[in-house]
Amino acid sequence: MRGAIGGPRLLLKRLREVMAEPVSAQERLDKTVVLIAANMVAEVCSVYVLRTDGTLELYATEGLNPNAVHLTTMRKGEGLVGLVAKEAEPVTTSDAQHHPLFAYKPETGEEIYNAFLGVPILRAGETLGVLVVQNKAQRAYSEEEIEALATVAMVLAEMIASGELQALARPGADLASRRALQLTGAPLSEGVGLGHVVLHEPRVVVKTLIADDVGRETDRLDNAIVGLRDAIDAMLDRGDLARATETLDVLEAYRMFAQDRGWITKMREVIATGVTAEAAVQRVQSDTRARMQRVADPILRERLYDLDDLANRLLRQLTGDGHHVPSESMPKDAVLVARSMGPAALLDYSRDNLRGLILEEGGPTSHVAIVARALGIPTVGEVEGITSLVEQGDAIIVDGSVGEVQVRPAPDVEHAYAEKVRFRAKRQEQYLALRHKPSRTRDGRDIKLYINAGLLVDLPHIKESGADGIGLFRTELQFMIASQFPRTGEQYALYKAVLEAAGDRPVTFRTLDIGGDKVLPYMHQIEEENPALGWRAIRLGLDRPGLMRSQLRALLQAAAGRELRVMFPMISASEEFDQARQVVEREITFLRRHGKPLPDLVKLGAMVEVPSLLFQLDEILQRTDFLSVGSNDLFQFLYAVDRGNARVAGRFDTLSPSVMRALKMIADKSNAAGVPVTLCGELASKPLEALALIGLGFRQLSMTPSAIGPVKAMLLEIDAAEIMELVDHHLKPEADRPLRLALREFAAERGIPL
Ligand code: PEP
Ligand code: MG
Repeated sequence: MRGAIGGPRLLLKRLREVMAEPVSAQERLDKTVVLIAANMVAEVCSVYVLRTDGTLELYATEGLNPNAVHLTTMRKGEGLVGLVAKEAEPVTTSDAQHHPLFAYKPETGEEIYNAFLGVPILRAGETLGVLVVQNKAQRAYSEEEIEALATVAMVLAEMIASGELQALARPGADLASRRALQLTGAPLSEGVGLGHVVLHEPRVVVKTLIADDVGRETDRLDNAIVGLRDAIDAMLDRGDLARATETLDVLEAYRMFAQDRGWITKMREVIATGVTAEAAVQRVQSDTRARMQRVADPILRERLYDLDDLANRLLRQLTGDGHHVPSESMPKDAVLVARSMGPAALLDYSRDNLRGLILEEGGPTSHVAIVARALGIPTVGEVEGITSLVEQGDAIIVDGSVGEVQVRPAPDVEHAYAEKVRFRAKRQEQYLALRHKPSRTRDGRDIKLYINAGLLVDLPHIKESGADGIGLFRTELQFMIASQFPRTGEQYALYKAVLEAAGDRPVTFRTLDIGGDKVLPYMHQIEEENPALGWRAIRLGLDRPGLMRSQLRALLQAAAGRELRVMFPMISASEEFDQARQVVEREITFLRRHGKPLPDLVKLGAMVEVPSLLFQLDEILQRTDFLSVGSNDLFQFLYAVDRGNARVAGRFDTLSPSVMRALKMIADKSNAAGVPVTLCGELASKPLEALALIGLGFRQLSMTPSAIGPVKAMLLEIDAAEIMELVDHHLKPEADRPLRLALREFAAERGIPL
């Protein structure tokens, strides 16, 4: 480094000694700036720390007026120092006085300095402050000097992140590294949880930053890169896993990055400034993160994410940290934070300790979201950058009902949420009190309320909610969270457990509904232009009867000696139902021939979720023992609106005349034919929508377990006949108001809880 005394390595060595000294935080900072100034032959070295209010405060200086420390502040973007913080990139000039952004602060005595070099103090891509050196001479700083100062800034970043400097902050001027954040994402699982951050895959903490032996550290980096490449190649070669093409794409991208000369060269250059291989990876990773935050192009961002992930893997190679295993010593109020997570990984944690889950990725239909809902863990997904914005143990609040996350909340915010939790708990208690009350309207109509389920963890909900049974058992969930096809024996065990838990309450099993958005990671995926309209559900079942037969065999045996109710998903024509029934009959004949015990009664039903079936209701009603309306898919196909696409999913009202008339036709025809009909889509889970459904003539609703209480509380307060009249009236073309509005006003007037 030109002009430096002893070079950057000596400086880092000295800094290490200062960091270890038992002195106060201010003294440590003061010594640090003196060391840097001397080493870089600069007249000035100053440290500015970013505060929660977005201003930079001078925390230490060598060369400027010492009285300005903790007094001089500037906004992000103001002056050259503010520019460094705003851009999160080094800024250098040999003539600061004439720079258009030069901001004059008289108290610092700054005007006599000409050359300026400022680097951001970055940690995990976040700017925590700015480190500056200045010279009187109009000199230019070399690339090596900029590089060296950036490396020194890492040491300061660790010092700031450790919380040591917080003690120096005046009241109301907290450090930005600890600032409260309010983030939003997608609500994935209802409820509010207060607790402390547990990073699912904790960032690797690099303890030793400074190293003397450049050759040794470069060798360590090279070896780790070889190990990383081998690991990626091994993953790619595991052809037996029949991985989804997306996974392959990602791994291919990883392989490309792992061979990226630019990335590797950058890390080698950082090592040459006198740091460990780990510190070099971390530096380059931090720069990548900072860039990520500025890139708008989603594809490029995705690639940068990959690079970030890769850097983490490289760090693990270097430190020997294995994959994270949930520890026994988790806090009692853990809020898990992860970039993404598989359902099995979530099940590895003890439910008792989990207050919430926050993911950077993960949409409402992701498998981890399904499991989180089944476990009743408040969850928010699609929270950008959350894994790098929090530290292990930070206080955090997750509101899964609206999709909000509060990081390091202020006491009044925490208080408000704690109040919300208490309020919810009280409401839960009120719902619990309704558990044994018959679900009957004021005018004496019985409305059967069932739960939707799919996993063993759902079973306690039957009794807890006081439901009449399980209206939809999604058998594919067992397949979705497994790592390979569950054997017939495993399926049998689950179905038997379900029936036992239900006791004498009915359970309606749905045969495998895979394909579309329900992907099995281990099943070979065929490329389809439109998977939602493709080879899925009963279509796949009929074309590959082996899978369906193994499932039916498990179901028939599990229900030996009692009633078995089975329904088929995505039936689009009556012949499909006939074919499905034949598969069941063949299986019954097979089991009978082998002397196996059979159910006393087998009832078969069809799901109504493909619009074509609306025009074959007469035919289907002659053939089935019951119908079940899948309003999620029916709505998706009626309006041609992808149920998983947030941009369009909320575009049309689910209580619009088109949907309501379709549903009314199903209810009327089923009731007239004396064939029981249930509605098991999301519609039934919301009290206002459930009110509309009762008004249309539905007497059986199946919903997410937590909805049983609120829906029951609503129906106990209504006259079904009155609601039917109201709905009827508002479905006429001459109706003056949308049905949703009319029902809401009606409920408000009558004090019906929604
Ligand atoms: C539906 O489509 O409404 C339904 C209940 O099935 P799923 O949500 O599992 O597709
Ligand atoms: Mg469906």
